[in-house]
Amino acid sequence: LIRFEQVVKKYGDNVVLRELDFNVAAGERVTLIGPSGSGKTTILRLLMTLETINGGVIWVDGQPLTHMHKNGKLVKASEAHLRQARKKIGMVFQQFNLFPNMTVRRNITEGPVHTLGVDKEEANRRAAELLDMVGLANKIDAHPTQLSGGQQQRVAIARALAMRPEILLLDEVTSALDPELVAGVLDVLRDIAQSTDITMLCVTHEMGFARDVSNRVLMFDAGRIAEEGPPEQIFGDPQEERTKTFLKAVL
Ligand code: ATP
Repeated sequence: LIRFEQVVKKYGDNVVLRELDFNVAAGERVTLIGPSGSGKTTILRLLMTLETINGGVIWVDGQPLTHMHKNGKLVKASEAHLRQARKKIGMVFQQFNLFPNMTVRRNITEGPVHTLGVDKEEANRRAAELLDMVGLANKIDAHPTQLSGGQQQRVAIARALAMRPEILLLDEVTSALDPELVAGVLDVLRDIAQSTDITMLCVTHEMGFARDVSNRVLMFDAGRIAEEGPPEQIFGDPQEERTKTFLKAVL
């Protein structure tokens, strides 16, 4: 479903991704771990087309997200193409980014109604269903400021799912939360992983979550994959020195 082929990303002289290759199959749950600055968030931002690449190709569903011109200059695909690609992908950020002046219901229905053209009643019905799934059915008429951080993050997850994406990107979704609110959000994500076939790509510092939810862990170091494998291997029997040192520092 997702293929990074020799992807290079630079910020000025800072080479963040170095000819990176990896694939994610439909339905896979992949977590990206690794030291700060190793390029994990950049990968999600590239998939959301919030950034452009400096080399290589990213494929989503067999379509290139960006492509090379004949003169060798990389340019973004057309806006129409990008809009289509973006519809397949939902993202939840570290900071929940809910619309503060809208109720929870409108936060969730706004995208489906205005971007996908879903009928308002249908969107409301789906919002209620999703809120039930994240355990917030009684908060449908609340405003984000009336919710705890953990509740806001669960609304943000419901909002992403309301767009019916094929791929859900999660960027350190629990790092801005008070410790006692983390478990509730992780439970919701575990539930989603178990009850849907959505493809998930998560950047996380929660090693327990990476272990429980993912089928595959990619350990990043300096813009490359230092090691990858099933969570049992990465956490139980890491092969690379880099992985061992990293895990020792965070566990
Ligand atoms: P963390 O776990 O701390 O979030 P990360 O592995 O997600 O780290 P990235 O956020 O992908 O790392 O950042 C990779 C590198 O790119 C870092 O060196 C960072 O300073 C740099 N970088 C990220 N975004 C920008 C930007 N908008 N402009 C310039 N440099 C950036």
